[in-house]
Amino acid sequence: MAAYTNKTEQYLQRVTSDKEHWLASYGVGDTVPYSGIYKCLGCNKEITSNKGDPFPPQNKHQHTSDQGKVVWKLIIRTDTEGNKFA
Ligand SMILES: [Zn+2]
Repeated sequence: MAAYTNKTEQYLQRVTSDKEHWLASYGVGDTVPYSGIYKCLGCNKEITSNKGDPFPPQNKHQHTSDQGKVVWKLIIRTDTEGNKFA
């Protein structure tokens, strides 16, 4: 789980959004829609990924048979433009 301290919490903002990128799941080799932290629901590992890059290929993110499918979910979107997503 991504972590922050009481000193770094000020740099995070809670948003309410039904936008596709918050709801969608991404698989091996899909294109990263927005830069941020993504969590794999199969193994709970988190990665930082940049917009436009592919999610890790099969040989870079492997699961045991009981971890099931690789499913990436956006959990923290980074403000790469510094404009609060305006
Ligand atoms: Zn995984």
